[in-house]
Amino acid sequence: MNPIIQARAATGDEGASEASRLFETAFSHSPEGVWSAPGRVNVIGEHVDYNGGPCLPIALPHRAFLAVKARDDRRIRLVSPQTAERVDEIDLDAMGPKGTAGEVPHWAAYIAGVAWALERDGRGPLRGFDAALWSCVPRGGGLSSSAALECSTAVALDELNGLGLAGTAEDPDDEGRRILVEAARRAENEIAGANTGGLDQTASLRCRAGHALALDCRDMSTRQIPFDMGAVGLELLVVDTRASHSLADGQYGRRRADCEEAARILGVRELVEVDDLDAAMTALDDPRLRSRVRHVVSEIARTRAFIDLMGAGPLEGSRLDAAALLLDDSHDSLRDDYEVSCRELDVVVGAARAAGAHGARMTGGGFGGSAIALVDSDRLEATARAIRDAFASEGLDEPRFLSAVASGPAGRTR
Ligand code: ADP
Ligand code: MG
Repeated sequence: MNPIIQARAATGDEGASEASRLFETAFSHSPEGVWSAPGRVNVIGEHVDYNGGPCLPIALPHRAFLAVKARDDRRIRLVSPQTAERVDEIDLDAMGPKGTAGEVPHWAAYIAGVAWALERDGRGPLRGFDAALWSCVPRGGGLSSSAALECSTAVALDELNGLGLAGTAEDPDDEGRRILVEAARRAENEIAGANTGGLDQTASLRCRAGHALALDCRDMSTRQIPFDMGAVGLELLVVDTRASHSLADGQYGRRRADCEEAARILGVRELVEVDDLDAAMTALDDPRLRSRVRHVVSEIARTRAFIDLMGAGPLEGSRLDAAALLLDDSHDSLRDDYEVSCRELDVVVGAARAAGAHGARMTGGGFGGSAIALVDSDRLEATARAIRDAFASEGLDEPRFLSAVASGPAGRTR
């Protein structure tokens, strides 16, 4: 393992042992099992999910591990070393959405919220549970540590309550998992109060090892696209800038509002229905809305082209050059037209390109979080060093590097 890749993924055994040990220390008895779910990184298709467009996430090898034992009552008790906080008093009959009397504090909302959402969906009453969380998904880095929490909970509750929705990680029930995705998304939106679409939860529950997930956000239908970069001598380097700019929240809402307004003016339900970009540019007076639409429509085209390239054969030669250009163009469009990049993300992308990456782009919502670069395997370390040096000379805090291999979905680990 290259020493510069600091954020190593725990193996299933390591993660399950950490979570079990923590469970036994906290609750003085043994868990019934350990379930886990991955974080995700989106290869291309950014800020198009809420416009009905396609995206292409992979599941990270980095996972959240949840050791769980069902209870005979309706209480939930939770512990996580990464917050040094224990939450003892959640009552499934009293909990409710953020901003109400039953509000659940902080990180516990992502876990307890899934039980709440499954019950709202008519899957209850569920049993209470004790759970210990141990995760190696970087937190707040745009790599969906939150979905990893929700989705590990979803598969655990599925099995402990005999809901029969998840299948196994090796043989997943894709239809049942769509229901779990909804519960996890609702937990995040309503109980944790974070306004996100279903991309993260879909990736964590429905990705397959060795594949990227082509997700059509019109109807959340999926296609598995073989994604084995190692086989063609490439690696997907993920760089967590560790920057998080406070304007992120409001800006996300404003971008969505811009898209809705543009769709209304253009007379379409969602921007995915815009098929003539020139006509749309003529129809929109506001330069800001024009830029937003130009990003969304061009990003949808780039994502479709990228998916086609992946299906056309190994990512080598001219296909690799074409893929690199799509990744680069995606970043430039997010930076210039959608205005969701920031200095840290631009520094990663600039340094990665200068070091010879085959395309680099910000990934996730922007204003901090992570960027990706497609690099020759034997250039992985040199590229990471070049990025680290660029951060140092810009006076920025050191970023964190992960190597992303397309990994398996949520399921039982032990
Ligand atoms: P991201 O999903 O990109 O990592 P979010 O802001 O959506 O960022 O989710 C991060 C939140 O998820 C944290 O603030 C915390 O509440 C919760 N979380 C994630 N991992 C853990 C963990 N290991 N222990 C406790 N809470 C966690
Ligand atoms: Mg999140």
